[in-house]
Amino acid sequence: MAQISYKSTRSAENSVSSLEAIIRGIAEDGGLYVPSFLPCIDKPLNQLASMTYSELAFYIMKKFFSEFSDQELLCCIENAYDEKFDTEEIVPVVKKDDTYFLELFHGPTLAFKDMALSVLPHLMTSAAKKLNRSEEIVILTATSGDTGKAALEGFKDVENTKIIVFYPQNGVSQIQKRQMITQKGKNTYVYGINGNFDDAQTGVKEVFNDKELCMQLGKNNIILSSANSINIGRLVPQIVYYFYAYANLLKNKDIQIGEKINVVVPTGNFGNILAAYYAKKMNLPINRLICASNENNVLYDFIATGIYDKRRELKVTTSPSMDILISSNLERLLYDLSRNDAQLVSNMMQKLSSDGFYEIPVQMKGKLKDFYGGFCDEQETYKSIRDIYNRTGYVIDTHTAVAYSVYQKYKKDTSDDTKTVVVSTASPFKFTKSVCKALLLEVDNYNDFQLLYKLSQSAELKVPYTIKDLENKKIVHDNICNKTDIRSVVKNILKA
Ligand SMILES: *Cc1c(COP(=O)(O)O)cnc(C)c1O
Repeated sequence: MAQISYKSTRSAENSVSSLEAIIRGIAEDGGLYVPSFLPCIDKPLNQLASMTYSELAFYIMKKFFSEFSDQELLCCIENAYDEKFDTEEIVPVVKKDDTYFLELFHGPTLAFKDMALSVLPHLMTSAAKKLNRSEEIVILTATSGDTGKAALEGFKDVENTKIIVFYPQNGVSQIQKRQMITQKGKNTYVYGINGNFDDAQTGVKEVFNDKELCMQLGKNNIILSSANSINIGRLVPQIVYYFYAYANLLKNKDIQIGEKINVVVPTGNFGNILAAYYAKKMNLPINRLICASNENNVLYDFIATGIYDKRRELKVTTSPSMDILISSNLERLLYDLSRNDAQLVSNMMQKLSSDGFYEIPVQMKGKLKDFYGGFCDEQETYKSIRDIYNRTGYVIDTHTAVAYSVYQKYKKDTSDDTKTVVVSTASPFKFTKSVCKALLLEVDNYNDFQLLYKLSQSAELKVPYTIKDLENKKIVHDNICNKTDIRSVVKNILKA
């Protein structure tokens, strides 16, 4: 079979291998790497049902990353999905009422980012070795809360790497913040910025696009790379769990082979749902891709109108990992919907950056029909946590609650009774205060750490061991900087 190569969404030339694409993270022209084609699944879906998560991950990732030997890729995968996860299944599918929840939060940092970020560092170092690159790989990451910690855990003390994380100082939960500022590892750097996630992401992108700085770093034997979901090495591992979920439903006879399912994805940077879209294009029987947003409903508007307009105030919500106005991975969808028209994508991105909005051509709008966009406000988020708990005793986090709430709207709106998987992206313990509030527990006189135990008692759930003693861990990163200082902070750390 032909080998997949990777091209930038913003120029028709210059394919690179998967190894290059993983190491670089973002293309030189500022575009995102996309696969030259999507591979097909050459095994019947019911055969996938007998595979373990790691076996399935190997089967799918090998198609995208064919330059790795079987041995190398297996090694990356086995190092990722191991006892760091608190369940052998890795991603359990749980049925409550008529809804299937795909629990992606059983990794070391309790959010779905672990699914990709526990494997990415191994892919990167392995790719560097194969290419005989001796440079130090420096990971630069903007985070709305979950990526930062997951990347720090993944890269801590990985040889020949450093990791620098910027997070919005007042835009993450207490638990998220404490997870990051207590991070161990001598190659880790963590900065709170006075600004929101988009400021952090913009600052980081500017560093990547600073040719002069990158050249200087190159001379110092450093390559900058990204752990954000713009890296193809993050996207591909996320395709795996959609196949896993489908195979799981098959195995449990919840669906018949070929039967279509819907997926509901709580969306921010559009990475997770894009992976579902790719899975659908790889012939996984998916009916609708339901894109759930919180009050930052740029994507809802986009799906409804074909106009992407970021000119609005970013709202800080109880689902902070979705508080985003610039969904980077949408660029990959545009590329696909425009039939790989790099010029068009390039123009749109230019327009977004100069004017704050763009509109896609009408023939592209028509192709958005696989998607359904919905959003919910804060009260609806609380209500959906409370409702499902009262009915079933199941506790969901705020992000999952946004998805669940949008799913209820979808059902009302369309009367579609296709079996539906809600993608569950974080443990309720990561957003304890909001979850307790939703469950009408008294929160005012408690901090998030005390609330862990309150939630645990009241819902009869065990506090996950990774955050049990978080409150008593030593704070090692107390750096704060201005949003305009990201470049100089990076220069300082790297002595450039
Ligand atoms: C990152 C994140 C999201 C959003 O995922 P995207 O791939 O950025 O769309 C949703 N929920 C949680 C808990 C997250 O950490």
